[in-house]
Amino acid sequence: MQRQPLVIANWKMNGDRQLVTAMAEALRDSSAQHADVSVVVCPPAVLLPAWQQAAFYDNIQLGAQDANENASGAHTGEHSLALLAEAGASMVLVGHSERRQFYGDNAQRIAAKVNQILDESTMTVVLCVGESAEQREQQQTFDVVASQLAEALASRKQCERIVIAYEPVWAIGTGLTASPEQAQEVHAFIRNWLGEKFGPSGVNLQILYGGSVKADNAEQLFAQADIDGGLIGGASLVEEQFVAICNAA
Ligand code: PGA
Repeated sequence: MQRQPLVIANWKMNGDRQLVTAMAEALRDSSAQHADVSVVVCPPAVLLPAWQQAAFYDNIQLGAQDANENASGAHTGEHSLALLAEAGASMVLVGHSERRQFYGDNAQRIAAKVNQILDESTMTVVLCVGESAEQREQQQTFDVVASQLAEALASRKQCERIVIAYEPVWAIGTGLTASPEQAQEVHAFIRNWLGEKFGPSGVNLQILYGGSVKADNAEQLFAQADIDGGLIGGASLVEEQFVAICNAA
């Protein structure tokens, strides 16, 4: 089965209405719209309605950068899946390294979020995994990635609506990209892990690379056999960069 290329923009805590309009226009004018590539934008949640309006006629999906694992209630400052869906999101990033490091997303919370999304919504989970520089130096990359996958997906029997993003922590926002070979090695490992857990349908999940993807390194990364696209931070805030990355997928 052919896996569809997928490029996801992670705006993090950046952007404004002006950038929404400019980026939507740039994507519309580019051939990315017509290529066989899925493009998803994850802006800060408050910009989802602006994106929904700007890209109403376009083939762009919207996603959220995180979601609370509870359905509703007294969770000041948080967003439920229902709220995010109402604002137009159909995907949710879970377990981004910034959330693991700074916002208390431990293994248990990440699993709860994955389960909430898959059991209580029709949205897709983009599960982020990846090792730190120290873990890579100590040759723990495969162990770390395997345990992050196992913890997050422990109770899942099926693999529908799951995308995996391999994001080495040392490559995020640092300008240090994993080489295509380094990334491919881990992607192949993840694909094998998914096959063992879920069987043939696991082998066909989309696995994205993230970590300092730019217009000038995207093509080489995406050319690797097990890299199905990218999760793009900094470069997704610059029209020419992001359009070029979409075109490279
Ligand atoms: P970066 O971020 O492209 O700026 O390295 C990627 C991410 O954090 O998803």
